[in-house]
Amino acid sequence: GAGALERVIAQQLRLMEQQIAALRGPVAPVADVQPLSAVPAAAQTAAPGGQTATDPAAVPAQAARLADAPAPRAKIQPETFVAYQPLNTEGPGGLTARQREYLDGFMARYAERTRASKAHQARYHVPLADSRVTARFRRAWKEILYPVVSDRARGSRVWDLDGNEYVDIGQAFGCSLFGHAPDFVSRAIQDQVERGYGVGPQSALAGRAAELVCELGGNQRAVFCNSGTEAVMGAIRAARAYTGRTKIAYFAGSYHGWSDVVLGRLLSAGGGREVRPSAPGVPELPLGDVLMLPFDDPESLRVLAEQMRDIALVMVEPVQSRRPDMRPQAFLRELRRMTREAGTLLHFDELITGFRLGVGGAQEFFGIQADLVTYGKIVAGGLPMGVVAGTREAMSVFDGGVWSYGDDSYPAAQRTLFAGAYFKHPISMAVACAVLEEIRRRGAPMYDELNGRTARLMERINAFFEAGAYPITAAHVSSCFRFFFGREVACPDLFHHHLIHEGVLVIPETGTHFLTTAHTDDDLERIFRAVCASAEAMRRGGFIPEPPAAPGERAGDRPETVRAALAPPEGLAASSSTSAETAKR
Ligand code: PLP
Repeated sequence: GAGALERVIAQQLRLMEQQIAALRGPVAPVADVQPLSAVPAAAQTAAPGGQTATDPAAVPAQAARLADAPAPRAKIQPETFVAYQPLNTEGPGGLTARQREYLDGFMARYAERTRASKAHQARYHVPLADSRVTARFRRAWKEILYPVVSDRARGSRVWDLDGNEYVDIGQAFGCSLFGHAPDFVSRAIQDQVERGYGVGPQSALAGRAAELVCELGGNQRAVFCNSGTEAVMGAIRAARAYTGRTKIAYFAGSYHGWSDVVLGRLLSAGGGREVRPSAPGVPELPLGDVLMLPFDDPESLRVLAEQMRDIALVMVEPVQSRRPDMRPQAFLRELRRMTREAGTLLHFDELITGFRLGVGGAQEFFGIQADLVTYGKIVAGGLPMGVVAGTREAMSVFDGGVWSYGDDSYPAAQRTLFAGAYFKHPISMAVACAVLEEIRRRGAPMYDELNGRTARLMERINAFFEAGAYPITAAHVSSCFRFFFGREVACPDLFHHHLIHEGVLVIPETGTHFLTTAHTDDDLERIFRAVCASAEAMRRGGFIPEPPAAPGERAGDRPETVRAALAPPEGLAASSSTSAETAKR
């Protein structure tokens, strides 16, 4: 039908864009792989050959409850995520006169409201070579491409240099489970500052921090470094040292940091697939030992089955931050079974899901014990942090294994190099202990409440999108969410700039949003209003098609269904946080 034709044309256009890019630069892809992430539900319940993927009895009841909770696939399927995108320097052509006129007005209002941030960017543009500023560069709206500069941040709120107050849903890339600068974290930092923070001598808190990562995360041992990227590099080296194999496998659409080895891009070539560098400066060599496959796809299991005995590590982002609507439970269970059988290590990269999905992260959520798990972010509430944790056997590579005093035991296991001047930094360790103790104290009920509030916000937002026939969907897992835009939406990046203009701070380059325990009902109402106002404004500007007018309604009127979807939930006054533009209407 028409939908299929549209998809074919869109694919052709993408292909042409890539061919043009290939003519321009040395690292452009030969051809993109088809988006393969949309696996029918049926495919998730059976392994290749038709056997049942796992024994459901092996899954703890609590985990089954969590992972089997309804998580409908988002109606809109986004393209497979690739972290690095080449600079788009196309001219501002391609917009209609209506879009152009609206955009000029919007940019003027945006730049006026955030003039100090813009002046700051202009002032420091030369000394500060900030890749984030150009991560999603577009000439058509370059006048508003600058970061909102924070003056201070507390709880759910951020104040910028112009004094604008925002409800922040970027929340430090997901580092803040409790909002910005909660008192117990600030106290932990101050206490440590008073004791001194020299690196070198062992931090008195590193042992307790490791103990908490193990107890809460369901691991046996842990080591600390300074970022998720480092932790992933550590896990890869550990697996290679442990197994004596060099090949590693990971999946398209995941993000595992910015080291060479994880910056592969899956391409289709000559009827097969190959992994090529996804960013300039990434050499081919480290990718020679990488097997990259579509995520949550039974065909990937088949390919892995053929090669598993040569693979050191299968690395997986159990719920991809770019696909919070996917719950690849059967796929993960099958990976667990296959890796265990082949002596391959299974690695859950839980930089986002760790201590976010629940106390025990994705291991608890899916009821699957990985060999290695990487964490960071929430663990130190915004301070630099990376953690590799896992089973006693796999973790032995970091120190040669456990040994004791007073007998003749010694570190007998294979050991490799893992070292950094700032590893176990005393301030990061102090914050890790404070955050993890707080998670331990508040436990599952805290997550139930936060995740439930997020789910209700998503339902309300999606009801509004549906009522107004907006081709946008909000998708979430626990308190992490994203918006997916249909192909009918022109310039979807502008949606994030509208949210910022409406007083909701986002990180436009990632588009991954987070709620925290610091977000109040009023904050949620402000987020909802800002989302609605942004969608309506983009439609007025001609970036989102009009819905067909119902009988008796004039085009452009708010249909009754939309008016109903906009009504505040009981207990909240309609005017409490209505955005300026929505209020006017
Ligand atoms: N792995 C995952 C799943 C991530 O989401 C991230 C960052 O967002 C990383 C690794 C890299 O972590 P970092 O930015 O701390 O280097």
